[in-house]
Amino acid sequence: MNSPPTTNDLPADSLANEGELAWQTEGLRFNAFGRALRRRFGGRVQRVSIDAGFTCPNVDGAVTQGGCNFCDNRSFSPSRRVRLKRVSEQLIAGIQTVTKRYDRVDGFIAYFQPATNTYAPVEQLDEIFRLALNADPRVVGLAIGTRPDCVPESVLSLLEDLARHYVVSLEYGMQSVHDDSLQWMNRAHTHADMINAIDRSRGRGFECTAHVILGVPGETHEMMMQTAEEIGVLGFDAIKLHNLYSVKGTPLGDEVLAGKIKMMDRDEYICTVVDFLERIPPATVVERVSGEAPPQYLIEPKWCLEKSAIRNEIGAEFRRRGTRQGDRFIPPALAPEDREVPPDLTPQTIRDQIESRGRLPVLKMQPPESTPDSTMTSDGDAGGLHSD
Ligand code: SF4
Repeated sequence: MNSPPTTNDLPADSLANEGELAWQTEGLRFNAFGRALRRRFGGRVQRVSIDAGFTCPNVDGAVTQGGCNFCDNRSFSPSRRVRLKRVSEQLIAGIQTVTKRYDRVDGFIAYFQPATNTYAPVEQLDEIFRLALNADPRVVGLAIGTRPDCVPESVLSLLEDLARHYVVSLEYGMQSVHDDSLQWMNRAHTHADMINAIDRSRGRGFECTAHVILGVPGETHEMMMQTAEEIGVLGFDAIKLHNLYSVKGTPLGDEVLAGKIKMMDRDEYICTVVDFLERIPPATVVERVSGEAPPQYLIEPKWCLEKSAIRNEIGAEFRRRGTRQGDRFIPPALAPEDREVPPDLTPQTIRDQIESRGRLPVLKMQPPESTPDSTMTSDGDAGGLHSD
């Protein structure tokens, strides 16, 4: 694993859409992330979640305040403080935890997850990302969670440069293609921002993942399927599906506790996920099929704690239907790679923070019980809705 493949070295089945793909040959129902990683790296590769101390323009007032209604952002308000070296400390601690859990782990991906992980002066981003990549020789790449309005050209150039030597995945909080839903979540960006970001990101050597939330109040089944169809239109390399869930201390949690909002029920969610995956391209990697929160914070739905069972039920529903991912995918009239690269529409308030020299106010560390060890799930991914 000393010479990890870069994004440009990917096996054809991750990128092509012709003939039978490896996951289909293996008899899978969808292009599961864990198997895709094994195929790509020839062994087990685990993500290790890192809190590098970022804040969010939806919290610090650059676009608005208060944050998304589902996001417990108290832990990354602009007043916290973090020492930079903690990034490598966290990564090494996470690697040790994962190594104890599995017989053999061949590589690690440093996953910058909480808050908006491209929202800092670009020279600071460069420093933090390289610190993680050099923390251990088994680190093969980065996964970086961000908002679609936080990727000015300077950030994309940095990621393009890193992707020449490492696997780099940029995880966009798309959530939905419907602006009414984005407004309900208090995202403070529109789907047009997402289109602008992905059209400037595509073809630069790093991969793009869409984070999508299913079960937003007011969204019909047809509306969720419109979000599914956009995955192929925009040419995302991977997708992460989450059920909407509520946790304590959030505006959404308060509304759920007050009985004003109901979460999607389990059977409906499973059918919706299968309907969704049938409509995305077969080559898109499926990184998650449900979300989960630490049980002590979760309000509803409790069923999302049963992650393995949910995954099995999704597989069973595919088998019952006799279908697979992509069976209802309709290729867009304009292939993603033929879409025009638009001008950079990053808001000036965000650009000012990223393109200024110096450091954003940084953050105090999370208390010990919230370190990556305790929040990491079995696939090394904290699975939260707050990962942008
Ligand atoms: S979910 Fe992401 S964009 Fe929304 S408040 Fe939390 S960190 Fe910010």
